[in-house]
Amino acid sequence: MPYTINQVKELVREFPDFPSEGILFRDIFPIFREPEAVECLVGHFVEQVRGLGSPIDAVVGLDARGFLFGPLIALRLGVAFVPVRKGGKLPGGVVQAKYQKEYGVDVFEMQADGIQAGQNVVIVDDLLATGGSCRAAEELVGMLGGTVVLNAFVISLEGLEGRKQLKAPVYALIEC
Ligand code: AMP
Repeated sequence: MPYTINQVKELVREFPDFPSEGILFRDIFPIFREPEAVECLVGHFVEQVRGLGSPIDAVVGLDARGFLFGPLIALRLGVAFVPVRKGGKLPGGVVQAKYQKEYGVDVFEMQADGIQAGQNVVIVDDLLATGGSCRAAEELVGMLGGTVVLNAFVISLEGLEGRKQLKAPVYALIEC
């Protein structure tokens, strides 16, 4: 049975105190157990991107849950998919950006030939919290001469004001 976007939202589950005390973890994996829900989610994001009215050259997905649906959006749009990964995972020349985690600093990397100067990209991830990781991804795109035209998430935790850290506009399916 085809899913509506509201039914897709209802598949997101909450796990209190995971992975550590005080964190309410938002779990999007149940969506991926339902092919029709995935179809609806991907179609919804494709509509958001097409609605921008600007041509897109690549979808940039963030390690790791941005890899679940980023390639599907890219395929539907007929554009490249480019991964941003944690430091040390990508072969060849890379660009690097650091970001603040709850405890300490982490590093994101993108292959230096992943996008070309002048290209427009959309960044996708499951969830926007403080915005630190997506901000680092925006920096990586900028280092390669690209422009982020949209940051798209399944969920945005509005109380953490992550969108204030980001240069490009934010779309989130669920704002909570
Ligand atoms: P941030 O850099 O603070 O915006 O954190 C966003 C990243 O951390 C995303 O890749 C999320 O997958 C993950 N994350 C942070 N908080 C949560 C949460 N409450 N539930 C699920 N994932 C989270």
